[in-house]
Amino acid sequence: MKINKVAVIGAGTMGAGIAGQVANAGLEVWLLDLPGEDNPNEIAERGLERLRNPDAPGLISSDAESRIHLGNTRDDFDQLADCDWVAEAVVERLDIKKALYRRLDDICHDAAIITSNTSTIPIRLLVEDMPADFCQRFAITHFFNPVRFMRLLELVRGEHTDPEVMDTLAQFCEQQLGKGVVACLDTPGFLGNRVGVYTIQCALHAAFDLGLTPLEADALFGRPMGIPKTGVFGLYDLIGIDLMSDVVQSLVNILPENDAFHAEAASIERMIRMIENGQTGNKQSQGFYRNSPDGERQVLDLNEGSYAPATRLNLALALKAEQQGVKYLLEDDGLYGHYAWRILSRSLSYAAALIPEVGDGPVAIDDAMKLGYNWIKGPFELIDEIGVDYFIQRLEADQMPVPVFLAEAAGSSFYRVEAGALQSRLISNRWQSIKRAPGIIRFNEKRQTIKPGNSCAVASWYDLDGIVLVEFHSKANALDADSMAILDDAIDQVESHQLRGLILHNDAQHFSCGVNLHAVREFFRDEDMDGLDAFLSHFQSVVQRMAKVQFPVVAAPVGLSIGGGFEVVLHAKQVICHANSTMGLVESLVGVVPGGGGCKETLYRWIDLLDCAGDITPACWKAFMNLGYGKTATSPIIAKKQAMLRPNDHFIINRDRLLSAAINAIENPSGQLAFDRPDLVLPGRAVFEEMCEWLVESRDKGLLMPHDVNVGTEMARIVTGGDVDPGTIWSEQDFYDAERRSFLTLIATEATRIRIDSMLDSGSPIRN
Ligand code: NAD
Repeated sequence: MKINKVAVIGAGTMGAGIAGQVANAGLEVWLLDLPGEDNPNEIAERGLERLRNPDAPGLISSDAESRIHLGNTRDDFDQLADCDWVAEAVVERLDIKKALYRRLDDICHDAAIITSNTSTIPIRLLVEDMPADFCQRFAITHFFNPVRFMRLLELVRGEHTDPEVMDTLAQFCEQQLGKGVVACLDTPGFLGNRVGVYTIQCALHAAFDLGLTPLEADALFGRPMGIPKTGVFGLYDLIGIDLMSDVVQSLVNILPENDAFHAEAASIERMIRMIENGQTGNKQSQGFYRNSPDGERQVLDLNEGSYAPATRLNLALALKAEQQGVKYLLEDDGLYGHYAWRILSRSLSYAAALIPEVGDGPVAIDDAMKLGYNWIKGPFELIDEIGVDYFIQRLEADQMPVPVFLAEAAGSSFYRVEAGALQSRLISNRWQSIKRAPGIIRFNEKRQTIKPGNSCAVASWYDLDGIVLVEFHSKANALDADSMAILDDAIDQVESHQLRGLILHNDAQHFSCGVNLHAVREFFRDEDMDGLDAFLSHFQSVVQRMAKVQFPVVAAPVGLSIGGGFEVVLHAKQVICHANSTMGLVESLVGVVPGGGGCKETLYRWIDLLDCAGDITPACWKAFMNLGYGKTATSPIIAKKQAMLRPNDHFIINRDRLLSAAINAIENPSGQLAFDRPDLVLPGRAVFEEMCEWLVESRDKGLLMPHDVNVGTEMARIVTGGDVDPGTIWSEQDFYDAERRSFLTLIATEATRIRIDSMLDSGSPIRN
């Protein structure tokens, strides 16, 4: 079975997202909704409009957009006749879905696969009364929102679904749509929402019961627990307080009476009033948090119902737990430790108690929580981290039940490495090796079976059968001198042992959010400008060395690669990144210039893209604009158009396949592109002055802030040569030197220091 043409019915949040991802994968897709009154395709058009949201773009390119054909279920239903897969994503109403299936059965061809995106309705109810042949071609494909970015796809088989249909869907969704496919039984809430919503409810009720403020709760139920920093109240605001209350209610309706979920599902008086008042979260611009009219971030007082400034809480306990692991938090005998224990004791036991109802081992639940809820570790991996015996003893001390699957693990763990292979525990004390489909390598799993060749707190390198992989692993993978020293050492290792090549990769949410600003702040607080210059010089020498080595070098980034993180990527001979990568040089936000070869690379790349080596002025302007505005590209296709990636760079839609693609690229190095960085003839003073004038005019029009002019001036100075005669010649090294000079000039200013302080202390940039 092959899927060539796809249709999605229902152009709401999910349907538009699914159609967008199909188009991102390069396929044509029809997106149909009910006919509008004046404009028949109005609803589908609105769906497409949502995909254009610049904050969370659902599409990777304008080409992808052109593959989406909009229509309605009255006028365009015959388009479905030759579709190989029809994904239904209409409202969660059984009668509406069933009526649609009857129409689909009439129009679709005999081999067409039909799936539903339902979150709560069992397959048996969806297809009751439908002909046997339809039931064989029917399954649930449960995507998560936003579809482009959430990796999880829960694939649910009905009693009569043909195994070939399941294989086709699994392969298509994994290889072409790039999803992490988790096969689920047709149990209520499947896996992700069953455990995810329960955990959120535990965090919510515990916060109200223990009297924590939203700021306190969110500081704890976030990074310190390996959970996204949105926290519980932030997540409620993001999803919508009213929508979450519907989700909870629908789980209450479908879960058995004895399910522990019911104890965490009661409505909370304060939240009932919030829904009545329209304080439903981000979509109404007010919920547990809001921005005041003058832009101040505010938080709700849960007792009074009034808002007060949301001053960032830097809880020492939470920060320490982030570094040392969640057990540190659990061992705290104060209120915060109590809060963490209450959530984790319940949610982790809940997950364990679901075995064997939802499956015979931990992997599917752990995968669902990591891919669908962005947890760093799944529930069973967390129990292993805490210690199975410690966890059981505390449950017993609190007279809480110990689920059988957990009790079986006493004295042991849920995962182990045996003969070099990662294994997971199954019910009745059996073990099995974790096998992923060919081509899928998660470095987080691989890492557990090997030892690093060299490692420090922020970075490590590993030898993968003659290919050295460098992994950054500090907070947000920020880079400092130690990270660069490990990279340098990895290059030594490949060179001295004549290994096959070097890969830069990590299996984290983001590749790297740039140079560690805390380290930069220490330099300027100590007024140690020589130290800062030496740091930059070392950074530059390592990336420059990497660009010039004789062996293949592949950067395989995921998520954000910005600032210094992107400067490292820019010096790899080939970039093979995930399709959802965001990259760019955002240094201007914190009042500095890219000082690790980023300005230089931006200029050379624009010269290549515009083919203007004879007169580089147009490239200077492009580089100046990109750097000055701190532009980011939200997909690799956009990055190529912005000269951030080179023609030999490419992307992979499934991030689980990224590492094998990088290994292949090392083994077949035809895609490597050397760094030809000839001396450049500079436009010099005249263009530099034009740029400075442009900055001043933009500031006078109110488009730029005063310090933007200073930062922009330094960018202009680097890319044009500054106050030099036109025709002056600079080598690549001259550009590196100019970057460092401008970096130091800006760091000496009060305004840059204020920008850096604001970023570090409040988490957001300040405009000054
Ligand atoms: P939504 O309300 O945003 O969109 C539903 C769309 O269906 C609307 O545009 C509506 O006009 C359309 N529709 C209704 N009846 C129709 C019909 N007969 N023919 C064609 N279109 C019709 O809903 P949603 O959030 O996108 O949810 C869709 C499905 O996905 C539901 O089954 C839901 O349970 C499931 N789901 C939702 C989420 C989520 O986060 N929103 C996540 C996973 C699964």
